[in-house]
Amino acid sequence: ELGPWQRALRAQFPIITANPELAYLDSAATGQKPQAVLDAVQEQLTAAHANAGRGSYPWANASTALVADVRDRVKGFLGDPDPARSAVHFTSGTTEGLRLVARDWLPGLLADGDEIVVPFADHEANLEPWLEAQRLLERQGVRIAVRELPYQSSSGDYDPAALARLVGPRTRFVAATHVHHVYGGNMNVHLVRRAVGPDVPICLDAAQSVGHLPVSVAELDVDFVAFSGHKALALPGSGALWARQSRGPELRPGGWQGSPNTTGIASLAAALDWLAAAGTDRIARWTVALAARLSDGLRRLDAYDVLGCQRSLAADSPVQQRCGIVTFRHRDIGARDLGFILFSHGFMVRTDGHCQAGAGETSSVRISLHVYNTPEEIDRLLAVLASLR
Ligand code: PMP
Repeated sequence: ELGPWQRALRAQFPIITANPELAYLDSAATGQKPQAVLDAVQEQLTAAHANAGRGSYPWANASTALVADVRDRVKGFLGDPDPARSAVHFTSGTTEGLRLVARDWLPGLLADGDEIVVPFADHEANLEPWLEAQRLLERQGVRIAVRELPYQSSSGDYDPAALARLVGPRTRFVAATHVHHVYGGNMNVHLVRRAVGPDVPICLDAAQSVGHLPVSVAELDVDFVAFSGHKALALPGSGALWARQSRGPELRPGGWQGSPNTTGIASLAAALDWLAAAGTDRIARWTVALAARLSDGLRRLDAYDVLGCQRSLAADSPVQQRCGIVTFRHRDIGARDLGFILFSHGFMVRTDGHCQAGAGETSSVRISLHVYNTPEEIDRLLAVLASLR
């Protein structure tokens, strides 16, 4: 059923169709761009290009209107049920979005003795900003406890019992991750909301979910969503932070606000339109099916260990594919060497430390998929992997 649909979408990615001998398997790092996004960039730079928020001639007005319009479209894409009471700040990506929350909003929420709960083994962009806020407050004599958001190694999901024990009257804020960028866990954010109750703000790192699967802020009941435009098929240097304004103070980005990245913002609007037309639910079904094909195939090969959503390598623990990320190790070949070997066969994969916080996962290969990837690519990859004993 999805075959012809997928072929039609794949054909819209010039870099993919121009390189049939290569397979791009690193979409968790950044996504390739469909023609509609390239067209929107061309249009923005050639039809009415000027700085936004300055000047009152037609091109300047068009740029200012573009920024306001795309704010509304980001809200729409995220299923915002109350757009009059939310804000969208354009950023260069997830990292800047999380840093905005940590720098310009969180300190105003916290008093001496308060506690925040954050992930210790997710992307470092979802740990360092919170530690920075803690250090900043400490210098002002405000001591904040930073606690680890607990996971259950058997399920790979949040641990509701441990979370319930951790949360107390001084818990003021939780940072969570929607999809883990190494283990591929598609986290049940509702468990966090249930544990902390209705009043504690939750900030979601949605770098690996926006553009890959449906994301609804109404359904998730979170207060901040940070994501990267470039991972959602828009230009590098584009991204957004969506902020609900009802739990805690309003987010007012401090310091100087420079010229907005109007071209990136135009590309983001085109990418979100493209994703909505393609259907993020269908994209998710496609990439999850490909990832399951890969992880099932890998598990039939003796030489590999698949790191699953369950964050353990226990042979008997089930790995349920819930997103398009598969990370694995060869028992004898190092990840770097494996990466070189795979590229000699045309496969582009991720092999280094994955920017994971803490000890981090350093010795694995990550395969991450998007709508342009095909079952044939997975089967060719498995054939090469099977030949490496
Ligand atoms: N969080 C997660 C889960 C990520 O996967 C990434 C990118 N790998 C980031 C944050 C940072 O995104 P960016 O580099 O676009 O700021």
